[in-house]
Amino acid sequence: LASHEMCPDGRVVEVGELKIGKKKLVIMAGPCAVENEEQIMHAALGVKAGGAQFLRGGAYKPRTSPYSFQGMEEEGLKLMRKAADATGLKVISEVVAHDQIDTAGKYCDMLQIGARNMQNFRLLREVGRSKIPVLLKRGISSTIEEWLDAAEYIMSEGNYNVVLCERGIRTFETATRNTLDVSAVPVVKERSCLPIIIDPSHAAGKARYVAALSLAGIAAGADGLIIEVHPNPKAAMSDAAQQLTPESFGQLTKKVGELARVV
Ligand code: PEP
Ligand code: MN
Repeated sequence: LASHEMCPDGRVVEVGELKIGKKKLVIMAGPCAVENEEQIMHAALGVKAGGAQFLRGGAYKPRTSPYSFQGMEEEGLKLMRKAADATGLKVISEVVAHDQIDTAGKYCDMLQIGARNMQNFRLLREVGRSKIPVLLKRGISSTIEEWLDAAEYIMSEGNYNVVLCERGIRTFETATRNTLDVSAVPVVKERSCLPIIIDPSHAAGKARYVAALSLAGIAAGADGLIIEVHPNPKAAMSDAAQQLTPESFGQLTKKVGELARVV
């Protein structure tokens, strides 16, 4: 279902009036996690001013350690919806279990399947049944074929609104958190009709590399970006090192816009 034979002109994923996979880039941005009302409202204002169309923010957080902050859950989703409505943004947030889909669906315009759950087949099937647009991140050590098969799980349940997200893969390199696989963009474009966006934040792990990876992804032909932005990155409850300030996010989207005009 994700192949070119099924969709020769490329699949355009519609989220309300927004179209992902057409010429205009989609920009999603916001904090790693929703932390409180003031934080998410400031983040929403900042990313809106910087040109984002989506507010991102984790409410169910997939943390490496069970002792780390696990997210505000439904309360976080409510705050995100409120901040997004106040600023004219769409909401994207991650679900880590199939029994969160109904709740998250009340507040979100798009659901994210995170890298750690790319092969959680029950979750994939259930978001497939939900028909809510899905952002499917690549697994930490998954091949492109495995990733496209994961997309097939969602689509085979009748939900064709799937956007892929390259967020870096695990390699021997330790200078960055993950290694952004820029080559995934042309390979995915060759093997499937699905839109693909880049998450430079979880690839880089460090804010100072985010701009370079964003530009590389767009130059390679990606359909958009999802970037972590926090009103006060140093104080962030998760992923503090990689989040941009709203100011540096604005500078980045300006450069991205200039690049997009020439590629
Ligand atoms: C996230 O986007 O919040 C996240 C946890 O990313 P990933 O699943 O790519 O690690
Ligand atoms: Mn994060």
